[in-house]
Amino acid sequence: MKKENSGISRRSFLKGAAATAAGAAAFSAMNMPVLADEEAAASDEAMTAEKWMNTKWSFEIPPAPIDPSLIDREYTADIIVVGAGIAGLCTAVKAKEDGADVIVFSAGHGPTGRGGSNHAAGSKKLDALGLDWGPEQESKEIKVEQIAGTYLMDKKKWARWINNSRESVDWMIDKMESQGLKTCVEFGYNDVDDILTVPPASHNFYTDQMPFGSLFGAPMQANAYAAIFRDEMGGQLDFEMVAQQLVREDNNTGRVSAVIALDKDGKYVKYNANKAVVLATGDFSRNRDMMAKYAPWVYNEYKDFLNFDEVDYDAGLIYTGLMPGDGQKMGLWVGAAWQKTFPTAPMINSGVPGPALFNDITNFLGINLDSTGHRFQNEATNFGFGAFSLLQLPDQMAFGIWDADYAKAQDSWDSFGCCVSYENGIKPKTSEEVLESWKGSYTMADTLDELLDQLGFEGEAKEAALKSIEDYNKYAEQGLDEEFHKNPKLLQTIKTPPFFGSKTVKNSNAMVFLTMCGGLRTNEKMQVCDAEDKPIEGLYNTGIMTGDFYANSYNFAIYGQNLGGTCCTLSYLLGKDLAELCKAEA
Ligand SMILES: Cc1cc2nc3c(=O)[nH]c(=O)nc-3n(C[C@H](O)[C@H](O)[C@H](O)COP(=O)(O)OP(=O)(O)OC[C@H]3O[C@@H](n4cnc5c(N)ncnc54)[C@H](O)[C@@H]3O)c2cc1C
Repeated sequence: MKKENSGISRRSFLKGAAATAAGAAAFSAMNMPVLADEEAAASDEAMTAEKWMNTKWSFEIPPAPIDPSLIDREYTADIIVVGAGIAGLCTAVKAKEDGADVIVFSAGHGPTGRGGSNHAAGSKKLDALGLDWGPEQESKEIKVEQIAGTYLMDKKKWARWINNSRESVDWMIDKMESQGLKTCVEFGYNDVDDILTVPPASHNFYTDQMPFGSLFGAPMQANAYAAIFRDEMGGQLDFEMVAQQLVREDNNTGRVSAVIALDKDGKYVKYNANKAVVLATGDFSRNRDMMAKYAPWVYNEYKDFLNFDEVDYDAGLIYTGLMPGDGQKMGLWVGAAWQKTFPTAPMINSGVPGPALFNDITNFLGINLDSTGHRFQNEATNFGFGAFSLLQLPDQMAFGIWDADYAKAQDSWDSFGCCVSYENGIKPKTSEEVLESWKGSYTMADTLDELLDQLGFEGEAKEAALKSIEDYNKYAEQGLDEEFHKNPKLLQTIKTPPFFGSKTVKNSNAMVFLTMCGGLRTNEKMQVCDAEDKPIEGLYNTGIMTGDFYANSYNFAIYGQNLGGTCCTLSYLLGKDLAELCKAEA
């Protein structure tokens, strides 16, 4: 039965009721908090649901349209790509290769990128290495990652990614190798519990001069795409051009037909798109208000470390925030909706540091202590999840402690940057070599007592730390972790000097690495959509700004997923689809 509206507001009803003696008695105890809320809501200062829903944030208010008479010059192409990161350039190269007429412009001084791990569900490189890997084998990893995101992400985009990963990564390998880069397959992640395990499937690109492709490969990739687009294909690639506004026809209800940018001399330049504008302007981690609105907990955690006051359109391998969210803002101004998942997922790394047993992306798998000297988790996790645990600690400070025997935990220790076949010249270390390498890299002492002093433990915290280590030794000897039930295979006593320790605390060097993964509502064809999920004609986006590709967190369970997924496969498919569209409508 439909509930009738009495026409009396809850507030006036409460006032009326309170006016009678009986009513006053009836409402006195039970309803006083409600009355208090009602009074508070009336104050100008208090936020209420209604005010909250009607409040407009600074970036949601569209600026006045740029006066056409101020346009200094115009360029026209079928496809205009905004942003020269890996995603924009990949789309542009693929579209142009397939015959489309494409212009790329970007705000930075040149192509941008950072890191370099590209996950692939199968590739010719994996085949050559005899590694059998593809969508069929990857179902467990995908399920784990989707569970970690509580199934809130868009599974259709994931299916498109996985099913086309091999084709697009093979294409990317050809493109990169044509520019003199070499392909490396990184080691996978071996989880003793076999939950977060990912076999080797992440690719990076390196040169003999720069073998660390997992850290520095992405800028080389971006430069390679730019060289192909501009030098080989003769494409127009403009830098130092900052997009300001999209032009949506029919009073902001029709097709997106152009984007207006500001050049370095302060002149407006209009880029007309016959078919599509592709936004590939990166994330919004340098935009204070967008961070506060779309990821409040992340904003609270990181506001003191992110550089909101300085825009850097060339942001590379830095930990203080990347892009200011220009593409997302421009999309909102022409009627795009925000992605459905809230909050927007952060990419954060850095668990407790220490020797990387099994893989570089691991949390330190030996004992982890907080600053009170207590363990705080089952240490067997990767560095993405490890970082989330650290954020829960009151002072966000943690320590790893191990002994000389830890070097014998495995015969061969892969150094940071190793490829599975070691062809980039970075070789694994023996137990003896790794032990040597710890001296000088970590805090070291002959006794645990001394080590804890050096790490800064005092008084009760030091006593607790010694007790935690004693308990841990007991768990290792009995093969049962009575506290956190870590897999017994990882329990190893800490008794043989020298002893080593590491410390991490959240600051601008550690536990930040912050990239925001997501943005405008986007369907699996990369069309930007409105609040009814209807595509806005002529408007696309790709790369890290793609909405709803992630939920909750980017947790490194499938590491290199962003470069491999949104920046390679979905961007490649977008280029291919747009070229098809241009042909079909020619
Ligand atoms: C330290 C670090 C390491 C990382 N390592 C990895 C990794 O190994 N693997 C992985 O998958 N992910 C990694 N990431 C995430 C990484 O940032 C993304 O995967 C990826 O580089 C995003 O590419 P993109 O092309 O979407 O955006 P970006 O590379 O940020 O490119 C955006 C482009 O848009 C331009 N632009 C911005 N605003 C405008 C405007 N108004 N007008 C015109 N142009 C504009 C910029 O100049 C830039 O060229 C890492 C992140 C960090 C911080």
